[in-house]
Amino acid sequence: MELVLKAILMVSLEGEASPNSKSREKLYKELTEIVRRLLEIIGEDPEREGLKETPERVARMWLDELARGYLINPDEHVKIFNYEGDNGEETVEMWNNIVIVYDIPVRSMCEHHLLPIVGTAAIAYIPSNKVLGFSKFARIVDAFSRRLQMQERLTNQIADFISSYLEAKGVMVVIEAMHLCALHRGVKEPIKMVTRAVRGAFEEDPNLRREVIEIISSKLSLTRIFDKNKLF
Ligand SMILES: [Zn+2]
Repeated sequence: MELVLKAILMVSLEGEASPNSKSREKLYKELTEIVRRLLEIIGEDPEREGLKETPERVARMWLDELARGYLINPDEHVKIFNYEGDNGEETVEMWNNIVIVYDIPVRSMCEHHLLPIVGTAAIAYIPSNKVLGFSKFARIVDAFSRRLQMQERLTNQIADFISSYLEAKGVMVVIEAMHLCALHRGVKEPIKMVTRAVRGAFEEDPNLRREVIEIISSKLSLTRIFDKNKLF
């Protein structure tokens, strides 16, 4: 568990080191130049009306949005509160002492093609004495998503983080996402993928796992079409 947290901290610190070592404006300028060059190489004229502001816009979008996860330390966004009933307005679903949060947006970029991965995550966990509010889950997912990713690794990173940070008795993370690289390349395989990661009690108890997957999969669109059993 400690190793996981250390790894996350290292990722966060690495992420902070590079953008801070140069001024942000310098990074925007450098990336703007690279995007302008990309436009030239693919046969475009970066000076034509429609493209004039594109390189800078793309550079800012990458640094401010698509890759901002490198700057976020998930720990900082996590405020833990005791199980004793504060924050009752949060829209989490409690089931047999299991907290289930679903429809958490996933916006990431595939590390193989630099194209978007778009989907949703569902997180189930069995709290020890630490619980999180709904919005905090979205922030954790955001911190790990807003960087170059593979869906499998993203799913595992979120599960490991919640498992370690909340000292949860069990954690399950299910992500259903569409990969735009598969769509654009015309690959004859599903462009959507479902991944899951289980820790603790969900790993050890197949019945418990099955019950929670039933609930989570009823919230997913893909599992109604594809073989839901693959999740179990
Ligand atoms: Zn890809």
